[in-house]
Amino acid sequence: EKFRQGLEKTRTSFSEKVNDLVYRYRKVDEDFFEELEEILIGADVGVTTVMELIEELKDEVKRRNIQDTKDVQAVISEKLVEIYQGDDDFNGELHLQENELTVILFVGVNGVGKTTTIGKLAHRLKSQGKTVLLAAGDTFRAGAIEQLEVWGERVGVDVIKQGSGSDPAAVMYDAVQAAKARKVDVLLCDTAGRLQNKVNLMKELEKVKRVIEREVPGAPHEVLLVIDATTGQNGLSQAKTFREVTDVSGIVLTKLDGTAKGGIVLAIRNEMNVPVKFVGLGEKMDDLQEFNPEQYVYGLFG
Ligand code: GDP
Repeated sequence: EKFRQGLEKTRTSFSEKVNDLVYRYRKVDEDFFEELEEILIGADVGVTTVMELIEELKDEVKRRNIQDTKDVQAVISEKLVEIYQGDDDFNGELHLQENELTVILFVGVNGVGKTTTIGKLAHRLKSQGKTVLLAAGDTFRAGAIEQLEVWGERVGVDVIKQGSGSDPAAVMYDAVQAAKARKVDVLLCDTAGRLQNKVNLMKELEKVKRVIEREVPGAPHEVLLVIDATTGQNGLSQAKTFREVTDVSGIVLTKLDGTAKGGIVLAIRNEMNVPVKFVGLGEKMDDLQEFNPEQYVYGLFG
């Protein structure tokens, strides 16, 4: 239900357009597909993904000898879900260690919702009975440390920090030591998001990762890239740039509630081949949902 609500804007604009199309055409033909293509591109599904999708739709429609546009709608849903399947690692689950410390690194440019996501995930893990610690690794952006502390208080988890401008790798060292000493289950690490200087950011993230790796073999267990869904195709290109800077194991797509272009989820899957693990559907503590392709597609049409 949360998912449905969060996708309200996308659903309204997307299904209205598809319904209108189905009503106007009735019979499937080339023009019908062309207009459908435009609707999908308008929903930020991404040109490459749309092209593939349309090709597959045409094949399927031919194979099943579908003539009525009403019947195409169901095939669209099927195909959208299919885009997400076939790969076990695409179930969107977090790689949490059993009885050992799990370290999760968050990357992404300023303003996308990184801090908020860390707070929400801390809340989520805590309500699953896990112990959580936060690391204030964004020592660059003014107010980032304080903001993380506000979330820490709200959720009831501690934040390991140093002063603004300090070395993020040193913060991570402290945080890992604290996490180990307190036998915490999950350490969630914030990082700076200055994509303006790619080389510096790359160096900083590498150093942070080296410290974590050295102190916790096998860590970080996840590097989650946070992307703002309202930035559409820009978010996608940002994501591609980030992947050049660091390995990314999953994506958190925030502010899906604030856009009518929720199709970006599919573009990410198809063009980046990185699973969307969570979506942000609001500003509150429980507004983080595990990404589920069936619920997502249902949210678009249902
Ligand atoms: P950061 O700079 O990446 O750490 O971004 P913040 O966590 O400070 O978030 C920036 C703004 O986006 C804040 O006003 C958040 O409340 C808002 N925000 C974050 N996630 C979501 C979301 O899923 N939905 C909505 N509507 N707002 C969000």
